[in-house]
Amino acid sequence: MSAYRDGPKTIVLVPEQLSRAEEARWVETMLARLAHREAARAPSDPDLEVRARTLSDRHLDGRPQPSSVRWSTNQQHRWGSCTTLDATIRLSTRLRGMPGWVLDYVLVHELAHLLVPDHSAAFWALVERYPRAERARGYLLGVADTDRSAPRE
Ligand SMILES: [Zn+2]
Repeated sequence: MSAYRDGPKTIVLVPEQLSRAEEARWVETMLARLAHREAARAPSDPDLEVRARTLSDRHLDGRPQPSSVRWSTNQQHRWGSCTTLDATIRLSTRLRGMPGWVLDYVLVHELAHLLVPDHSAAFWALVERYPRAERARGYLLGVADTDRSAPRE
């Protein structure tokens, strides 16, 4: 039995002879183990904050200054969120298994929201400064397509 990510897809391999209930239980177990491994490899909260500041400097002239950037398990319907009032950013722990450039896209997206709260043209002009924005959006859409429980942007 094994579970791994293949691009935007998550593959879980279980023996064929399992009953449906056993299969469901094992899939859940394997996914939990995968999430655990990814959590161990993922950047820590302080690392995330440094990463966000670096992205802000590199792509957004250092204008967005988040006060805190943290992982959150409480983001099942969104990849990330921000609170403009206190400049905090939360990222879904579901991003932990994804490539760094996808994580960076979500960070840039939330950083841009600290400057422009809506999804107006001005907002997207900021996001597009991140070179892989388009590709990352496609990647996240791919996840949403193959995983019915995936959050939408
Ligand atoms: Zn947004």
